Amino acid sequence: MSWIYSNNDLSREQLPVNESLFSLANGYLGVRGNFEEACPDEIRSIRGTYINAFYDIVPIHYGERAYGYPQTKQKMMNVIDSQSMQLYFGEDSEPFSLFTGKIIRFERTLHLDAGYSERLIHWRSPHGRELILTFRRLVSFSHRELFAVELHIEPVNFHGKVTLMSSINGKIENFSDHHDARVGSADEAKLSVTDCRTLDDLSIVSDRTSMSNLDVSCVSSIRLSVPCTRNIWIRKSSVETSITFLLNKPVTAVKKNIYTDSLRHGSQTERTGVNLHQKIDVLSFSELLKEQKRFLDAFWSISDVMIDGDPAIQEGIRFNLFHLLQSAGRDPFSSIAAKGLSGEGYEGHYFWDTEIFTVPFFTLTRPDIARHLLQYRYTILDQARKHAREMGHHQGTLFPWRTISGTECSAFFPAGTAQYHINADIAYSYAQYMRATGDLDFLEKYGFEMIVETARIWIDIGHFQNGHFCIDDVTGPDEYTAIVNNNYYTNAMAQFNLNVAVKYYHILQKKAPETLNTLSERLHLSPEEIRSWDRAAQAMYLPYDEDLKINPQDDTFLNKAVWDFAGTPDNHYPLLLHYHPLTLYRHQVCKQADTLLAHFLLEGAADIETIRNSFHYYEKITTHDSSLSTCIFSIMAARIGEYRKAYDYFLKSARIDLDNIQGNTRDGLHLANLGGSWMAILFGFAGIRITEKGLSLRPSIPLKWNNYSFHVVFQGKTLRFKIAQGLGQCQLERSGSLELTINNQKRTISSGETVTFQVNMLKNL
Ligand code: BGC
Repeated sequence: MSWIYSNNDLSREQLPVNESLFSLANGYLGVRGNFEEACPDEIRSIRGTYINAFYDIVPIHYGERAYGYPQTKQKMMNVIDSQSMQLYFGEDSEPFSLFTGKIIRFERTLHLDAGYSERLIHWRSPHGRELILTFRRLVSFSHRELFAVELHIEPVNFHGKVTLMSSINGKIENFSDHHDARVGSADEAKLSVTDCRTLDDLSIVSDRTSMSNLDVSCVSSIRLSVPCTRNIWIRKSSVETSITFLLNKPVTAVKKNIYTDSLRHGSQTERTGVNLHQKIDVLSFSELLKEQKRFLDAFWSISDVMIDGDPAIQEGIRFNLFHLLQSAGRDPFSSIAAKGLSGEGYEGHYFWDTEIFTVPFFTLTRPDIARHLLQYRYTILDQARKHAREMGHHQGTLFPWRTISGTECSAFFPAGTAQYHINADIAYSYAQYMRATGDLDFLEKYGFEMIVETARIWIDIGHFQNGHFCIDDVTGPDEYTAIVNNNYYTNAMAQFNLNVAVKYYHILQKKAPETLNTLSERLHLSPEEIRSWDRAAQAMYLPYDEDLKINPQDDTFLNKAVWDFAGTPDNHYPLLLHYHPLTLYRHQVCKQADTLLAHFLLEGAADIETIRNSFHYYEKITTHDSSLSTCIFSIMAARIGEYRKAYDYFLKSARIDLDNIQGNTRDGLHLANLGGSWMAILFGFAGIRITEKGLSLRPSIPLKWNNYSFHVVFQGKTLRFKIAQGLGQCQLERSGSLELTINNQKRTISSGETVTFQVNMLKNL
């Protein structure tokens, strides 16, 4: 089965999209799939290199400012560009470009199993010079600071002088789009070049941000397989190397760029870069490729989802998982940005997307990466506490709606700061991680404190009314409805948050009483406070409509007029680009799954009839203008047995970026949805749930598929599932045994044994 994604489209519409699709990253460093030789100006290329969490601070300008509005925000910076390599052939220096002469053959591939991208070009220049050029590039999983490019030049009919211009450019700006708030605005974020120099044959460029005072350096070398002459120009903001050689046989050039930044590498970023460069210098490009392959073999051996019978979906899901891996930060400074490291949309900010949509994949396949992602929130806990005080809360923590370094970056509070549910989302993903791993050490070090602090906000913001615990003036996940009382999702998730806080208190009491004592003292916890969480959780108000037998999204949602869908022109979607927020708020229209998401995450909180009715009700009024939506509708359609819908929604999610379904893949990949497409297979079709009682499964399979298989890592054990039409199998890899629930029946599986089970066939597909 194919492990390659290829796309040879050179049209001006597709090229910027391909820059996102072919982006390479390793959780730390990300490089868009730009052309080394650049594009003609008429192509709106976004040339980008990013370091996860490397940001500048910029002021937020408001026409009218109110108390507590954030005054600044962080912005992920586009950093030093080391991609450039231009070729000139012959004494007349005829430049290479994909947009001149004749392309005899062009193949562009992303090797998902091997971790590199490749461009093969058989080109005839306008002057008739014929060559085969192959560019291969990788961002190393083994050396996080390394971005390397190999250029192979094979003469076909041309032999003679070639000049290769390689440059490292420190004068870089971020991209902006005034018409789309989701991209980012032109503002004062700026990098200044602090150094351009050479050291032996290394080019070194360093930049500093203007407000956050962070440094970034790039140390670069370029080496050729044949004798050559070099000229180096040190300019104000770049170092350019011109290399001349005689082409009479195939020639290879390898460029290695090491990026370091002062967040991770201290103030000596250049020095560290030089040292790191020395270390990797001994490795050839093919050795680097071997390392990539080893890393990815280990990753795919657990994380792959194999689908037999649906090649387009197979391609989609592998592509998605590859990019999830590429985007996940693995250090205390970083997480997964809404667009990963593939573009500048949403300015490199981290949202609830990470915890609800991408962490589940890692929790059940690479718990080590999930742990890192969760730990990131712990590192910004103090800032979230401060944010809670600014917001007038006397206790607890309030995580910022969007951030990089920990402070709130949302300038539009109705669809930003008001989304208090982010606290419960974080608590939920901590709890799911602990359920799946049993990682008590994590609970003691980070988990308990996080869950307590997130829970405390609910007591502070909520109040008792007629015996119910109510939460007023918040915004749920659906951003087309804002500042409401008793948003079902928020209340249900807050209830969960409070319940797990009580539960983990009792677990620690039993399993680690000394740790609990220390934590209780530090967090000023009292038994009375624990009881107050319990009381609030028990009394939590969860809106229910007796007539429709659904959970209304909030107290007033059902009183509003239903949006005039019939009268909305097709080109007015997404609605947020064509209607004032107030127009949207006054109607029953949802941008994304809200109540339905609660029904998925908190399976036991509503009965199946309510879930079914809610699905049908909200389906009619949801636009899916957010990419976080169709995956949840797919999961819930599978839950209520509407298989055709489950598959149709899944199709929209599985290839969202490959087919540019949202129309904005140019600005970066939709990371939450990439995770969501995996969820739609495991939580939707396979019906997997992780609950207090353990791992359960309610397997089904789309009619089109012969079978699908995947692994789940649970309680340190690896399970392999293969689900075919009618029959499924499960095996436990390595030793031990595990209890799980399949089709509502308890089963124990021991290693070496194959457990079989019945699979729901999706008849109406
Ligand atoms: C969605 C949010 C999401 C954000 C970043 C918005 O369009 O409505 O739920 O967090 O995008 O992906």
